[in-house]
Amino acid sequence: MINVTVWNEFVHEQIRDDVKAVYPDGIHKVLADGLTKEGFACRTATLDQDEHGLTESVLNSTDVMLWWGHTAHDLVDDDIAEAVVRRVQEGMGLIVLHSGHFSKPFKQLMGTSCDLKWRVADEQEILWCVNPNHPISQGVNPSITLDKEEMYGEFFDVPAPDELVYLSNFEGGEVFRSGCTYRRGHGKIFYFRPGHETYPTYYNQDIMHIISNAVRWAQPAENARPAFGRTEPKRTIGGKVLV
Ligand code: ZN
Repeated sequence: MINVTVWNEFVHEQIRDDVKAVYPDGIHKVLADGLTKEGFACRTATLDQDEHGLTESVLNSTDVMLWWGHTAHDLVDDDIAEAVVRRVQEGMGLIVLHSGHFSKPFKQLMGTSCDLKWRVADEQEILWCVNPNHPISQGVNPSITLDKEEMYGEFFDVPAPDELVYLSNFEGGEVFRSGCTYRRGHGKIFYFRPGHETYPTYYNQDIMHIISNAVRWAQPAENARPAFGRTEPKRTIGGKVLV
């Protein structure tokens, strides 16, 4: 069983009617429901909870974390953001969604501005799979059409991804690297672009299929926490036992 924690800042859904209409119980609820149906052990955490719901015990028992944030990146405590980064380096998987590109953990893990171009204009987005053999794209249509989404355009200021899995094309002409994988330390990271708060993107079966595949791909390897420091020799060195 893979333990998933869906983290959402959960701000827009409480203060904006247009967002509440799409995600009445929050984006995290729709993501967690979709992943629970796929057989993952899912819990949610939000900004307004103590330690943003990301206590040490939650972090230590999370195999893969999803992160959705937009308007409140600055309100995320630096210590908590650093703890998330540390857990990724130890092996926890991290799936960063949409405007999470500007979140503290993602920016720290990338080491770049993570800036991009954007426009909210009810545009059609077509996501093209550019890596059909990748575990994240298995069983998903080679192209997915979202009738209305926010546009994100290149240049996207991230390091060159280890693997590019999805490329988006928008009605206005821009393209964007929408599905990017990275490894940092022992952890795997998947940045996945779709999911603007005023559109029903996370109700789309193909989108949830990709996110489910990404959770399986990002789960930690069993030996993700190797031992470090002084170690005893396997054999006697020069006939002496070292102290
Ligand atoms: Zn957005």
